[in-house]
Amino acid sequence: MTVRTPGELARETLKLLASRRIAPTPENYVLVYAEISGTSAVPVLPAAPSAAAGEPDATDWSQVIRDLMRQLELRHAGVSLTQKRDGLERLLISFRRSPQLGEKLAALTKAWGEALPSAPGALLVDAAEAAGTPEATDGAAAPAPAAWRDAPVFNGIAAMKGPAAGVTLLPIVEDLAHTLRELLAAVFERELAPRVSDYPRLAGTVARLPPLVRAAATPADCAAIDTAIGHALREAELVQVEQRLIVEDSMALVRMLVSNLAELVDDDRWVAGQVQLLERTVEQPPSSRTLADAQAQFRETVERQRALKDALREMKRTLKELIGVFVERVGEMAQSAVVYQARIVGYTERVRVTDNVNGLRDLLDDLMVDMRRMQVDATRSRDQVLGVGEHAERARAKVAELEAELARVSAALREDALTGALNRRGLDEAVEREVARAQRYRSSLCFTVIDLDHFKKLNDRLGHQAGDGALRHLVAVVRSMLRPSDTIGRYGGEEFVLLLPETPVEDARVVVQRLQRELTRQFFLHNNEKVLITFSAGVARMRPGETGAQALARADEAMYEAKRKGRNRVLLAGDE
Ligand code: GH3
Ligand code: MG
Ligand code: MG
Repeated sequence: MTVRTPGELARETLKLLASRRIAPTPENYVLVYAEISGTSAVPVLPAAPSAAAGEPDATDWSQVIRDLMRQLELRHAGVSLTQKRDGLERLLISFRRSPQLGEKLAALTKAWGEALPSAPGALLVDAAEAAGTPEATDGAAAPAPAAWRDAPVFNGIAAMKGPAAGVTLLPIVEDLAHTLRELLAAVFERELAPRVSDYPRLAGTVARLPPLVRAAATPADCAAIDTAIGHALREAELVQVEQRLIVEDSMALVRMLVSNLAELVDDDRWVAGQVQLLERTVEQPPSSRTLADAQAQFRETVERQRALKDALREMKRTLKELIGVFVERVGEMAQSAVVYQARIVGYTERVRVTDNVNGLRDLLDDLMVDMRRMQVDATRSRDQVLGVGEHAERARAKVAELEAELARVSAALREDALTGALNRRGLDEAVEREVARAQRYRSSLCFTVIDLDHFKKLNDRLGHQAGDGALRHLVAVVRSMLRPSDTIGRYGGEEFVLLLPETPVEDARVVVQRLQRELTRQFFLHNNEKVLITFSAGVARMRPGETGAQALARADEAMYEAKRKGRNRVLLAGDE
């Protein structure tokens, strides 16, 4: 190995600094010199004049640091935190041992404070330049080529000694940077990672972020983090899209299952009704609410269905068995009839060939015995057949009863238990049906909202049970007055809706007024006391292009108007 002179070593050091694009500060020079000369013993450069050796340091450090902290935290238009950190690091390296450090820091901080939105990027470089570097002025190192200014300051150092080697930041800034790095790493590690653990690819990308953040020391490192976060976000977006597709596919599958289910159970009205409800639920856009509703409805359908179907199946089996027995008995009867017929043919023959009295008496005795036997057999067979028939009839009645029970359960899902009027579910279905009919046949459909007057007082005076009785009474009277095609549903506590299809609005008003009069004739009796029930009502005709809900809302508004005008009256909606 050739021994190089200090002069050659110095030249090579400068060349290497330039090719690695490392700022030519005394510290960097010393490190690269040591690398080239292969010595760990670093040549001692004359120390920069210290504050103690030169004039006393008059810097008010507490103020400088306070300002620096404040401006570092403040957001300035056109100067990012990374740029600030970058400028600060350059300055700290350049003025590491310089008595001007305080003054330069103050100048840099001021420059941030005055940052203008127009000259982003340049501002910090200019500020650092304005502050002046010792190298540039004292000529201890080669002047920095322009490209060095924008190069990541620590790249070369990092290659030699790890991320922050050779850099001395103010401890408070170092602490702050460390805390921020840890905070960001912790957000990725503790908050984000557990939430994405189900998606291996995304989890892998997220797992690469904390080490990157912890080791970040240069603008290039920050750019790498930025890129990695970008990757993670794009992968998260893909996961989101995939999840949405999965949900949509699942819903499509459920819809398909449900529609096939409807075909399978076409003959069963109750289940078919339930399935229709389910279909309507799953047709809505998927949401946790839709899915929960569908699940609950499905469970209810399956459970009620199973219980009633089991009983029905059992009864049908019994009925079949009984019919089997019946057929068998009828067969036996026919069989014994054949036997006796043969015997009678025998007797006929004996009558023909017998010509003495004794012979005829014997024949008569035999005939009597057979006749008696025949009679017993016939009676027994008849009893048996009747018995089987009765059994079969009971079984058939039970089957009919169970079928009625299925229909009743089905209706109960749509009926208000107290009054027997439709409940909200039933009412919604009826509105949908009637609205569709009215639209199809372009017929007049009227909505009426009825609200009992001072019902609270009735409850308070006579008790809640009497109140319940009054509600039942009202519904019974309404039923007796309306056409079979009309519908009454309980809208809320003491509020009811009447649907009057194919009825002009004036007729609807007359119908409801007649109802009012009828309630003054058919009193509600409570403990033999005649209790007068009155109501306020609003009537609206569904207009073309209007939804059922809109017409109902207008009827409701008219009902409130009737209340305001003094109650016990029927009003048409304002624009009827
Ligand atoms: P308004 O003439 O203004 O309609 O007076 P109101 O007292 O009828 O009206 P409000 O809405 O203040 O009170 C309705 C009352 O109906 C309150 C509640 O106790 C009673 N209610 C609601 N549902 C039932 C029910 O099922 N049974 C009984 N007994 N009372 C009910
Ligand atoms: Mg009310
Ligand atoms: Mg009321």
